[in-house]
Amino acid sequence: MTATVEFPLHTEVREFVSGPLELLIGGRWVPAASGRTFPTYDPATGEKIAEVAHGEAEDVNRAVAAARKAFDAGPWAAMKPNERERLIWRIGDLLSERAEIFGQLEALDNGKSAGIATAVDTGWAADVFRYYAGWATKIEGSTVNVSMPFAPDAQFHAYTLREPVGVCGQIIPWNFPLLMAAWKIAPALAAGNTVVLKPAEQTPLTALLLGKLFEEAGFPPGVVNIVTGFGDAGAALAAHEGVDKVAFTGSTEVGKKIVQAASGNLKKVSLELGGKSPNVVFADADLDLAVPGSVNAWMFNHGQCCVAGTRLYVEDTIFEEFTQAVAQAASQVKIGPGLDPETQLGPMVSQEQFDRVSRYLGEGLADGARALTGGKRWGDTGYFIEPTVFVDVKPEFSIVREEIFGPVVAAMPFNAEQGVAAAANNSEYGLAAGVWTRDVAKAHRTAKELKAGSVWVNQYNGFDTAMPFGGYKQSGWGRELGAAALDLYTQTKSVNIAL
Ligand code: NAD
Repeated sequence: MTATVEFPLHTEVREFVSGPLELLIGGRWVPAASGRTFPTYDPATGEKIAEVAHGEAEDVNRAVAAARKAFDAGPWAAMKPNERERLIWRIGDLLSERAEIFGQLEALDNGKSAGIATAVDTGWAADVFRYYAGWATKIEGSTVNVSMPFAPDAQFHAYTLREPVGVCGQIIPWNFPLLMAAWKIAPALAAGNTVVLKPAEQTPLTALLLGKLFEEAGFPPGVVNIVTGFGDAGAALAAHEGVDKVAFTGSTEVGKKIVQAASGNLKKVSLELGGKSPNVVFADADLDLAVPGSVNAWMFNHGQCCVAGTRLYVEDTIFEEFTQAVAQAASQVKIGPGLDPETQLGPMVSQEQFDRVSRYLGEGLADGARALTGGKRWGDTGYFIEPTVFVDVKPEFSIVREEIFGPVVAAMPFNAEQGVAAAANNSEYGLAAGVWTRDVAKAHRTAKELKAGSVWVNQYNGFDTAMPFGGYKQSGWGRELGAAALDLYTQTKSVNIAL
């Protein structure tokens, strides 16, 4: 089977990709200083979609200067919170109005299903802008009761102010290109910062279309700047002395480089990194929920999720039955290009990611794992991988230890509640975890023992804009979403007045 069928594109999508696709700097669309461009590809066919401006260090310098100017003076610096609220809310509305356009563009560039990209990626991105629009008027300091022991007779009036950090460099990956832009930009703007966004080189298109919305909504120039380019542009942003804070989502390997680069001016750093999340299924679980839920845990977004539940721990009394059911469900998903409305599992985002997942499949089989389903490429065009369920695995196998970022799960039996948390926690990562049981007490005990930033019980991928999200251990620093994200984008000033 191949995936070369043509699907009709919206006129707006066609017009947008026909370009020019330039950098957004200081409220203007400009070519890269070098004049260079780079191609972005449709992962369902491997064909080029468009050429995009190839931003480098010089472009980052220009964008940071524009963001600094907007932060220090002008309408953004003077803007009242309720006015910021109105502008940020408008982005949410514009995204909702154009959800299908964004969804189709995302499907084209990333390979995910257009339906998911419209409802989930774009719908949620709109929700994120509206949620943080509301926060713009609710960021408050506090009054503090001061009682200085060495000045017992003096009186004070003391309070805190929560102020924006300044210019924020934001570097995002390719797995949820629009949504990650929203997670980063919305709280930064709500707190009054300005932004330079560096989208992933594999998927630059929806961030550029989002850039158009900031113009349309009436944001002052320089508040949001977008520099498309490769890792060197990200590195320039992370190291830039004019940047006050860097926020990064991507691999743990690059996260460590960001920390080093940021040390020059000790800019604030937040990191959302990799994962190898456990999903624990007890024998008393509702299997009608747990089987599809566990498939969703590792297969959603083609396994290209930092939270993917790719270590499946199943109580031994149901291991055989459960893994067979999961393999059966996985083998029936409809594979195809994201633009096909029937598609449930699309391609890997790039040749590189396809090669990486293929390498892990080979390693797993060579180590002695058995594939209940999948284990190889699907079709002969594009970057498709069959959903793969491995059993007969050992904790030391690379498919159990390392983040694969593809539709591949390793299933392991366990025989005691006491031991399973230790096995689940045996990872350098700690991003998310799933627990399936009908026993409420067991669910709470296990949730407490798991070393993960998010634990989902009787569901997986249970995200909400209001719930903080982030990692334990090498899965990251800080928490995004919810009120917690505002801590990343504000700093506290203590003011103490002697009366
Ligand atoms: P990556 O970490 O290399 O890229 C993420 C972003 O960082 C991109 O915008 C990239 O241009 C930028 N970048 C790359 N090198 C940089 C540097 N030195 N300084 C600053 N920015 C830099 O991720 P990848 O290579 O696209 O994917 C590799 C693996 O990372 C995946 O297979 C997966 O395991 C993991 N990953 C995790 C997430 C996540 O959400 N946690 C997302 C994407 C990839």
